[in-house]
Order: sequence, then C-alpha cells, then structure tokens
Amino acid sequence: MSENWNSRTKLVHGGTRRSQYNEVSEAIFLTQGFVYDTAEQAEARFVEIGEDEFIYGRYGNPTVAMFENRIAMLEGGEDAFATASGMAAVSGALTSLLKAGDHVVSAKALFGSCLFILEGVLARYGVEVTFVDGTNLDEWRAAVRPDTKAVFFESMSNPTLEVIDVAAVAEIAHAVSATVVVDNVFSTPVFSKAIEQGADLVIYSATKHIDGQGRALGGVIIGSKELIRGTVEPYMKHTGGCMSPFNAWVMLKGLETIDLRVRAQAESALKIATALEGHAALERTIYPGLPTHAQNALVQSQLDGKGGTVLSLDLKGGKDAAFKFLNALTIPVISNNLGDAKSIATHPATTTHQRLSDEQKDDLGITPGLVRFSVGLEDADDLIADLSQALQVAQS
Ligand SMILES: *Cc1c(COP(=O)(O)O)cnc(C)c1O
Repeated sequence: MSENWNSRTKLVHGGTRRSQYNEVSEAIFLTQGFVYDTAEQAEARFVEIGEDEFIYGRYGNPTVAMFENRIAMLEGGEDAFATASGMAAVSGALTSLLKAGDHVVSAKALFGSCLFILEGVLARYGVEVTFVDGTNLDEWRAAVRPDTKAVFFESMSNPTLEVIDVAAVAEIAHAVSATVVVDNVFSTPVFSKAIEQGADLVIYSATKHIDGQGRALGGVIIGSKELIRGTVEPYMKHTGGCMSPFNAWVMLKGLETIDLRVRAQAESALKIATALEGHAALERTIYPGLPTHAQNALVQSQLDGKGGTVLSLDLKGGKDAAFKFLNALTIPVISNNLGDAKSIATHPATTTHQRLSDEQKDDLGITPGLVRFSVGLEDADDLIADLSQALQVAQS
C-alpha cells in the first residue's frame, strides 16, 4: 500500500521503523554497533543479514536505513545507500562501478569536485574519460563505445543551469550497456523523475535541498536493489563513506518538509527571474523556468515545467560589478551552499570554480560577472527589492 502513496505522504511516513517504545518522531540510534544474543547469532548475521538486522555502523544503522528507504521510495528506486556527503556519493558510485581500462563519458559542465573525481582520480586509476557538451546528443552518440561502462552528468548543471535530456542520454548509454549515473542536485528530488526517465543511479548531495537548512553534510545513491546492494554497498561499507545516524535523522526531518520548501523556492525563483530579466545591469538572466531558457521545452517535459530553486545572473561590468552587487545585498548571505532556507549568493569564478583554468571557465560560460543565486524561503518581493537595489549599486 505504501508504494501507492503520493509523494507528500511518502515524504512524511516512508521507511518509518519504530522501536519497542513506539515513538512518534523517528529515533536516532547513535550507536557504533549492535550486540548479538549468542555467538551463533553473530555468525549467522555475518553470513546473511536480515531486514531488521544490523552489524556495525559503517555497514548500516536503523536511522540511516529509514532515510535510505524514504528517499528511495520517493525517487522510485528500489534501494538507496546514504553517504557522508554528496561527494562521497559521487566518488563511491563511480569507483564502485569502474575498474582500470574502463571508459566513461561525462558532460563537461560539472561541479568543481565532480570534475576532480573524473579528471583527476579516475584517470589516475586507469579509467579513460571522454568529456562532451551534455546538451548535444550528437556528441554523446559519437563518444560512447562498446567499452563504455558508465556515463555521468549533472541533470541541471552548476552554475550555468544547462538542462540535460535524461531519457535521451540514457537511451544512447543503454545501447552500449553503460550504467547511467546522474547527479541530480539542481533538479531536486521534488521535480525530477530521473529513474523513471532511464537513470540507473541517481545521486543527491543531501547537504542541499534535503537538509535545506544548512545544518549537516550528507549524500545518497539511489537505484535498483542489484546495483545498490550488489555494487555500491560492498564498496561503501568497506571504504567508510557512510552517513552518521545523527545526520540521517536531520535528513529524515528535512524530507518531511522538502516538497513544501522546494515548491515555494521554485515559485519565488521564477518570480525573481521574471522580474529581473532584461534589467539594464544584466548581460543575461539564466533560469531554466523562463520561457527564454534554451532548454525550456525539456524543462516542461522532464521537470514538470519547474526550473528549480537556483538562478544565475550575469552582470555587465565583470568581477567589479559582481562584487559590488554581492556586497550591496542585505537579505541574501554570501556563501557557497544552495537549496537553503536562506537565500545565498555565490561568485563561482572566484570560489566554487576558482580551480578551473580561464579557458575552462570561458568554455563553460563561467564569466567574471556571473553570480549564482540560490533562492530561499524569504518573501519574494523583499528579495526582488533587495536584488534590484544591489543591481543599481553594481552599475554605479
Ligand atoms: C554540492 C554538490 C555536490 C557535493 O555535495 P557535498 O554534500 O558538498 O559533498 C555534488 N554535486 C553537486 C551538483 C552539488 O551541488
């Protein structure tokens, strides 16, 4: 019956396990491990682990399992593995799937740390990576080969908010039996149906919208039982990138309200982008929910028309103007998280993407004037007024 629940019911009740006390709010099992009644029971558990059985915190924990089951249920995956951070999820998913000599095709518009894994770590272990323009399906078609084991992309890229066609890339990848790994942070678990659209492993940094209140780091990998328990778990449980039970509890509580928060944030983002588009101080207003966005048709079909909670503003006047703008903001904070209840402004070229060469930044459209703006839960009209006065300062 719970499989038939709609999303909002799954987000509140999915995966709940109650202890003998029948607590209302999910319990936090802050324990490193679990005791066995007998030596025989310990032996049996190491041979095969049952549904409600646990061995050691690095392998699994009841609070963490509640979070894994709840997010898997929401996403339409059979199972999930929760990780210490979003990057533990990205590196764990890729490293558990790949070995020396394998080939990977990846979109080139990636978060700095994801680029480090693909360009640095995987290459060091003998995995060949081909980078493509993720929005160009011909490039994906030309890059995949019979030895391509995985494809990787952010379904909505950071910070230029390009949207990649999950179903089309999955079809190209599956034709050569490659596993489709999608970093889905910007699409959000509320708007995305990536598994239904063909993704094999969906990854979230839970640090973003799932917590949504800037408290804890976390990540999760969602997919089929076979991939999660057969491929991901053996790697993760022995390499140690598990989520702490306390953080799992924070994330469980975050899931209860994520639908309301993310929908409100996306509604404000569209209102703000619409109000600022064409402003004299701006070269470009990038928001996937705007009809003028290059992939807006895809946003309609893939994300139910929702453009997410982040917009990017490209200011005229480069870094000087961007810094004046950031320093003039009174409500949003200057930081580098996103998906938070507090609006957050980021200058990617000098912070999150500082490590990239000028050539890479140019290629990805990370201009000196670009500001990423994560829309929070404040009143949208207050934000529009504040952004407008800061744009005026930037122009002066
Ligand atoms: C933040 C982020 C990550 C990394 O997540 P952490 O929780 O910070 O490790 C990975 N991918 C994308 C797209 C992100 O925005």
